[in-house]
Amino acid sequence: MDDWWEESLHDGFRVGLRIDELLHETKSAFQHLKLFENKALGRVLTLDGIVQTTERDEFIYHEMLSHTPILAHGDVHRVLIVGGGDGGMLRRVLMHPGIESVTVVEIDDSVIELSKRYLRSICGDAFDDPRAEVIIGDGAGYVADGRGQFDVIIVDSPDPVGPAGVLFERGFYSDCKSCLAAGGIIVTQNGVPFLQGEVLRSTVHHLRSLFADATCYLAPVPLYVGGFMAFGWASDDPTLRQVTLKTLSKRLAKVNLTARYYTAEIHMSAFALPGYVEALVVSV
Ligand code: SAM
Repeated sequence: MDDWWEESLHDGFRVGLRIDELLHETKSAFQHLKLFENKALGRVLTLDGIVQTTERDEFIYHEMLSHTPILAHGDVHRVLIVGGGDGGMLRRVLMHPGIESVTVVEIDDSVIELSKRYLRSICGDAFDDPRAEVIIGDGAGYVADGRGQFDVIIVDSPDPVGPAGVLFERGFYSDCKSCLAAGGIIVTQNGVPFLQGEVLRSTVHHLRSLFADATCYLAPVPLYVGGFMAFGWASDDPTLRQVTLKTLSKRLAKVNLTARYYTAEIHMSAFALPGYVEALVVSV
């Protein structure tokens, strides 16, 4: 009899993945960690019963949440990643030649240890890169201390469950703003609007009260079921979102990203929102 893992993040909606081999399961001080092999998706990391990343589809999420703000900005040297314990975001950010430092603030070091041990296809050796600084702690507490001036802040958080709930509150976004250098950009993991519209509406509402420009952009991440996944976007420089295809293409030609989803055309089109998503973000 096959063993199945089920996610019921959304009321009345379940997703099941067969556990072809259980690789690790523990309860840390913060959350329940489960990592298993699945024929369709490769290795799957779940936290508190919610899928975080899979070997097969992680490239879409990590490329879109890292390359999009960095290439839109055009001169990024210092990046903050809040969460990101699987290392996939760190690995993509470090691909950009101009990056001088990436600070990763991850609350649960067991996620990092698990990723280094079982998810090298996602994190590679990013955690060993001399430009990477890993801080084990609460991301909300870190930005509240107003440390560092970053060109891009990437909130690579789980859904607003458990220790991640605080990462969807206005106070956190306000503190992030105080840690952004002039012309900086903040981007956020913001769930699947078809099933989590309220989370997106709330985030954009908070961001719009703090920044001159706030919206979201989209990408289809297979494992985040329900259609498009949304990424919150905010900056005090609205022109950053209006970068031209020509400029983006020039910038992209200068970096060797080996991207399998991100392209300059995908970047531009990701901000074209369908009506049901537009209704969530403009009506705030
Ligand atoms: N791609 C995933 C998604 O879309 O849900 C997120 C990936 S990553 C595994 C999320 C990380 O955020 C986890 O390692 C978790 O431990 C961390 N995390 C949760 N709450 C946090 C907090 N308050 N401060 C810092 N890290 C946090």
